[in-house]
Amino acid sequence: MTYRAPIHDMLLALNHGAGLQAALKAGHYGDFDGDIASAVLEEAGRFATDVLAPLNRIGDENGIQLKDGGVTTAPGWPDAYQRWIAAGWNGVSGPEAFGGQGLPMAINAACTEIWSASNIAFGLCPLLTLSAIEALDAHGSGELKNIYLEKLVTGEWTGTMQLTEPQAGSDVGALRSRAERAPDGSYRVFGTKIFITYGDHDMTDNIVHFVLARLPDAPPGTKGISLFLIPKFLVNADGSLGARNDIFASGVEHKLGMHASPTCTMTMGDKGGAIGYLIGEENRGMLCMFTMMNQARLGVGIEGVGIADRAYQQALAYAQDRKQGRAPGSKSAGMDPIIVHPDVKRMLMQMRSMTAAARTICYATAVALDVAARSTDPTVRTAAAARGALLTPIAKAFSTDIGNEVTSLGVQVHGGMGFIEETGAAQHFRDARITAIYEGTNGIQSIDLVTRKLGANGGASVWALLEELAGIVSHVEASNDPAFGTTGVKLRDALGSLERSSKWLLERLASAPTEALAGATPYLRLFGSTLGGCMLAGEALAAKDITDGGGDPARYVTLARFFAENVAVQAGSLERTVIDSAESVISADAVLLA
Ligand SMILES: Cc1cc2nc3c(=O)[nH]c(=O)nc-3n(C[C@H](O)[C@H](O)[C@H](O)COP(=O)(O)OP(=O)(O)OC[C@H]3O[C@@H](n4cnc5c(N)ncnc54)[C@H](O)[C@@H]3O)c2cc1C
Repeated sequence: MTYRAPIHDMLLALNHGAGLQAALKAGHYGDFDGDIASAVLEEAGRFATDVLAPLNRIGDENGIQLKDGGVTTAPGWPDAYQRWIAAGWNGVSGPEAFGGQGLPMAINAACTEIWSASNIAFGLCPLLTLSAIEALDAHGSGELKNIYLEKLVTGEWTGTMQLTEPQAGSDVGALRSRAERAPDGSYRVFGTKIFITYGDHDMTDNIVHFVLARLPDAPPGTKGISLFLIPKFLVNADGSLGARNDIFASGVEHKLGMHASPTCTMTMGDKGGAIGYLIGEENRGMLCMFTMMNQARLGVGIEGVGIADRAYQQALAYAQDRKQGRAPGSKSAGMDPIIVHPDVKRMLMQMRSMTAAARTICYATAVALDVAARSTDPTVRTAAAARGALLTPIAKAFSTDIGNEVTSLGVQVHGGMGFIEETGAAQHFRDARITAIYEGTNGIQSIDLVTRKLGANGGASVWALLEELAGIVSHVEASNDPAFGTTGVKLRDALGSLERSSKWLLERLASAPTEALAGATPYLRLFGSTLGGCMLAGEALAAKDITDGGGDPARYVTLARFFAENVAVQAGSLERTVIDSAESVISADAVLLA
């Protein structure tokens, strides 16, 4: 079945759950007209349904080919990409001075969900180009920007992000690719990168690689890494394409999912060295790379939301169609659709509510990053940047974890047919798996949350957020709406668990950091489900006041209640895991190394 963007849910999440309307009202978005969001999303939804979704299966079945040093994408992909750039989708949030539309990141976040849901392997290419744009815009010289930025913003050329080497994965500081200074101020880069997404393809006539490498006199570790821009084809003074540069795809991976996205081994330096240009300063490459990675981490979190929503839509349709058994208490002779069974309802609600929670968390991250970039008030900007930094690892890891869970439930709802490729449920499950691994594994995100984000400014960002969330819970309680059931109680308990766990971790970070690290993953889950639960409740309250013909607003109360009573309710046991389980993790060697 095809994909339809859930525009009403997305706008509710964006405007109310994620706080776009409040930020607009406070003037943090300058003269941006928030009303255009719905028109942009409607149009994006149409493009995704008509052009991208039909290619999803074709890409999965055909994959990509490496022949004569070049990668060929699946049938129809180059044409779809040309239509994509012609429609201006690549430059939604790109800088206007370089051909972009300059729309907020929050709008692009919602569009990214649509691309990921309709065709995650296709959407990954522009997702990485966008990260390249951010890094070049923030750290590149004027000359490099003039040559490359517009081509990347329009999508005429795509970007790659090249960190990983066989011995340097999570530990980027171990990378060995080397760069030598050339007399003309450029560099020659040598080395091998692995797992490079869209490292080569046939959708554009040039590719701009962003590569981390080390200068001969660089200090060891991450302090000695520099970032280089290395074009596939060199660019002549008049802007035309020149000689082929010494960077080639020397292999492609055969993967569990994402078959249509080329994952390349890149070899540099077999013909005298790849000509590269420094971005930022020598040995300060990690600073630039973090600009790329933060953007990409949010993008990958949104991939989790998109693929989860796709799996939900498909499972819902199947559950309305497939007949087995009878509804509890039914006396009818015929069979009922499986959606009548409480266990199937539970699976579908779990899928929908977790997707909705992750969506709002991701959009809220984008709103925070927008405000940090756009507000004219320096105090507001600083607080928003801290909020964005805090939310980024949660957006990435919580959303991709639920992406995996939801796509797995999608298979389950289909029964045996879910395991058969024909339905497409299996593809979503396979495609989702990588999102919890790349752009920093979810384990690394949890460590980032606990060791860097939680303790930043003495925990001030966390306490400020908890206070806001408590305000939402008070509103739920004050509403006295019986449809909320025990939502208020469950969320208040969850907030208590999150607060106590945060304090415990802050204390352990100083006194016993290994114990804090042992609890990082359950803590991130606790944070994500509490945050998501409160945000969904906030959305449900807002929905009650909206009369825009988008169906019965009471369904958002039911959704928020389901999440609070079935997902956020696990906060208590997650708290106990964070606080009580460190010893059992630390003593694991007795089992693992026996
Ligand atoms: C399809 C695909 C596309 C990719 N695209 C790109 C790309 O475009 N560019 C690019 O540069 N890379 C890319 N990657 C690489 C990807 O980012 C890495 O695979 C990922 O960061 C993990 O590194 P690793 O595979 O070396 O695993 P490892 O670092 O070996 O990790 C193995 C396990 O150990 C854990 N671990 C490692 N270190 C720690 C630690 N300090 N504390 C706690 N746990 C730890 C990890 O969480 C993980 O569970 C891609 C990978 C794939 C499979």
